[in-house]
Amino acid sequence: MPQGGVPLGNYFGIPVRLHWSWFIIFILVTWMLGAYYFPDSYPYWNRATDWGIGAATSVLFFASVLLHELAHSRVAQAAGMQVKSITLFIFGGVSQIGQEPGKPAVEFRMAIAGPGTSLVLGAIFWGIFFATRHSVEPLSGLAYWLGYINVSLAVFNLVPGFPLDGGRVLRSILWWRSGNVRSATRTASTIGRAVGFLFIFGGIALIFLNRSYWLNGIWLALIGWFLDNAAVGSYRQVALQDMLQGHTVSEVMNRDCQVISPSITVEQTVNDYILKLGSRCLPVVEDGRALGIVTLHNIKSVARELWPKKTVREAMTPLDKTRALGPNDGLSMAMQLLNDEDVNQLPVMEGNSIIGMVARDNLLSFIHARAELGM
Ligand SMILES: [Zn+2]
Repeated sequence: MPQGGVPLGNYFGIPVRLHWSWFIIFILVTWMLGAYYFPDSYPYWNRATDWGIGAATSVLFFASVLLHELAHSRVAQAAGMQVKSITLFIFGGVSQIGQEPGKPAVEFRMAIAGPGTSLVLGAIFWGIFFATRHSVEPLSGLAYWLGYINVSLAVFNLVPGFPLDGGRVLRSILWWRSGNVRSATRTASTIGRAVGFLFIFGGIALIFLNRSYWLNGIWLALIGWFLDNAAVGSYRQVALQDMLQGHTVSEVMNRDCQVISPSITVEQTVNDYILKLGSRCLPVVEDGRALGIVTLHNIKSVARELWPKKTVREAMTPLDKTRALGPNDGLSMAMQLLNDEDVNQLPVMEGNSIIGMVARDNLLSFIHARAELGM
């Protein structure tokens, strides 16, 4: 999935970004419209009109893609899910949603909202086309293409290969019928891979069969390749969730904790606890009260020459600045929290004391051990 990009503001509390690859597709679409589509469809327009309407159409096309993604995200928010961001990139838009939907009905509504919105937009643009085609031709030309592209977007996304919207609809139905999200995902993503391969072969065939469509062929093959990757990745994620299901933090947490005092220096912490004892779990406790934790990340953020001067109190992550897990929390929740907080480890609290730490490494070795045993 694309990372980073140019921020485009917040909508309903969701940051929207343009990935660098988006600029390529934006320029291509504008060029295709301004240099080919409008001059071919309306040969008597002047070049300024071709390009002006081309650029406006292109902007509205990407606004339509954004509305499609916002529709998915708004339904997710209404179901209590956290939407981290929406990114527009070369293959369209993607909503980064904190977790997978917990119920098939939620997934169904979330999935259908996007193509539904595209269909409504398509109808609106075609309405504008019919209303203006004898009066304001440039507007009607713009509206016709946008109507067509929004309907195509809806139809393409309804192809039943996971993780396309149609694949999500299919998965929600299979999931609802069987109650088993993993097998539903396996079926839907297998179809997703088949669709991906079909696009790749279709694209390659198009390149060789009809030379004038070589660009469309490459494009189709690229989308197929992207779809295949996404299908594999999504299935892995669900299989992983399934593997973590029913296991708790207490099974993997690091219990080898060395309580340290907030008044010792960073240098002492490194020498006496991290190097000598090999401890990676360092709760900071004063008068029996847990104050925070020290992680390798905390140590690294202190300049080497300041190690003898800085105290643990200054370098630690205070408890009120970090989320904590309980020993009975599920492992998928632990993984979720590590990702949400973007940290390598989190303290495990029981009452007011830190009884251990969970690091990404702990989760990885749990997963590796099970994968090697074929579980
Ligand atoms: Zn969608």
